[in-house]
Amino acid sequence: MRYTEKNPPFRMSQFSLFYAGQPHPTKYDCMKNEVIASHFEMLADLLEIQGANPFRIRAYRNGARTISSTSESLDDMVSSEKDLTELTGIGKDLARQIHEIVTTGKHVALEALRKEIPGGVLDMLRIQGVGPKKVSVFFNELGLRSLADLKAACEAGQLAKLKGFGRKTEESILQNIDLAAKQSERVSIAEARAAAEAIVDDLKQQAEVEQVSVAGSCRRRRETCGDLDILATCSDPGPPMDRLAAHPLVETVLQRGDTKQRVRLKTGIELDLRVVPEASFGAALLYFTGSKEHNIVVRQRAKDLNLKVNEYGVFRGEEQIAGRTEEDVYAAVGLPWIPPELREHRREFEWADAGTLPKLVTVVDIQGDLHMHTTASDGAATIEEMALAAKARGLKYIAITDHSKRVSMANGLDAERLRQHWKDIQNVRARMSGIDILCGIECDILEDATMDLADDVLAEADWVIAVLHYGLKQPGKQIMKRLMAAVKNPHVDIIGHCTGRMIGRREGADVNFTDLLKAAADNSVMMEINAHPSRLDLDDIHAAAAKDQGIPIVISTDSHSVNGFEVLEYGVDQARRAGLTSEDVANTKSLKEFRELLK
Ligand SMILES: [Zn+2]
Ligand SMILES: [Zn+2]
Repeated sequence: MRYTEKNPPFRMSQFSLFYAGQPHPTKYDCMKNEVIASHFEMLADLLEIQGANPFRIRAYRNGARTISSTSESLDDMVSSEKDLTELTGIGKDLARQIHEIVTTGKHVALEALRKEIPGGVLDMLRIQGVGPKKVSVFFNELGLRSLADLKAACEAGQLAKLKGFGRKTEESILQNIDLAAKQSERVSIAEARAAAEAIVDDLKQQAEVEQVSVAGSCRRRRETCGDLDILATCSDPGPPMDRLAAHPLVETVLQRGDTKQRVRLKTGIELDLRVVPEASFGAALLYFTGSKEHNIVVRQRAKDLNLKVNEYGVFRGEEQIAGRTEEDVYAAVGLPWIPPELREHRREFEWADAGTLPKLVTVVDIQGDLHMHTTASDGAATIEEMALAAKARGLKYIAITDHSKRVSMANGLDAERLRQHWKDIQNVRARMSGIDILCGIECDILEDATMDLADDVLAEADWVIAVLHYGLKQPGKQIMKRLMAAVKNPHVDIIGHCTGRMIGRREGADVNFTDLLKAAADNSVMMEINAHPSRLDLDDIHAAAAKDQGIPIVISTDSHSVNGFEVLEYGVDQARRAGLTSEDVANTKSLKEFRELLK
């Protein structure tokens, strides 16, 4: 897979999850190849920052690429004693390291390097347009060790004095560094969930532990999380705390009290484990899940009923009348249980009072995936491999949507190659059963508001995704001219990753959603929720606004390899946060019903 700016690696590397090699299967087993790949990506970044031998660096990068595009789980390969060196680009040394990660959860080479390079240096990689080569210069030649150091150096004009750097680099860094700093204390929901759920699953193995749950913003499925909260009930808080302290994801115990332990994970984020009495578990779960704004309303409702709600329970005077489960607590204040994704004090209370809380869409509702790439542009797998992988996941239909020619970095297709590609897709479709394949295209909306492919070409497609990839910083007026032109194009079916944002790395384009969504509704154009955890574009607010306009939403993985389908759940989380039901999500429908929605 070629990683480009619009197709960034699933870079868990900067937070490196060391949960590989858990002794029991976790939900994230399927992500392991990506996790192992991220270890090697991070190793390569660190080596490049150190100025190591380019061949060594390339070996790790090639290895990472192979691993993330290998459909067979490395975990399975190791346990069935298959020869890892048969994979392209995996030599003896990498094979040994993979074995180590899978069997011990440790990665000695990476851990050693991390000790040599300060975490603040790695944070610099979060700045848009800054890669390991530049960071190497900042660290080795200027001795900069943190984002704050780098900012000061830019402001003092120190970078411009270096060979190969200019005023422009400084300006661009200054423009993006605050965003990087803001995000450096947060991790994506993908990383947060992976870590929190691995730890929850591990605590469940402890015999004394009765109930255990993730709480906090991770349970509400926010796009990013600052720290993690886990609640448990247990007759004796000692054993779960000991178990957490010994978990391979945990770097150090920061604080330990009678019922609460705070640890720092190797990813840098902190996690609180609270052991609560069984009679308070529901009340505590509600309290620590938040949001604050949601809880304020719950407490006010209790007050109105002469009750008191806190993290220990619901009380009438001194008497506890509820608290064991969340359902109890909500019921005591006259509310139905509210899904955590909706607890932001937006419309959940209005819905609850009216008895119209939406039945939120789930991953199993999804029947089709309508955005993915193949080797024809920048994907790692063939049409057939993608179709087989989709079928294996239970999908009934897919659309192959490679890039159009403007994205030359990703080997985008011109009319001639695209028509040939569609023929190839039809051939695969003809010989496959159990899955249908649409001939699609991810067509760029060019900077001048024309489409990258002519209308007669787009007219032949089953499915046209129109997207902004370039010129995202244009003034809002021009951005809107482009999006409006796309929406009004009779062949465009959907706007993909609408703002083009990269969470924590790049702000999105200046989109006027009021105008855009109205035009989309008027022209029967759908809107995508791109499920990649660094995009999640539309966000929850705009997805809800699209629903209000009656616009069908499509949740798409934008897969670039057979493992890309894994991210679907993050897109579904985002849709749930927007209050969407399966009715609102077009790719929960059968292909026949879906086609009826097309213009
Ligand atoms: Zn794209
Ligand atoms: Zn794409």
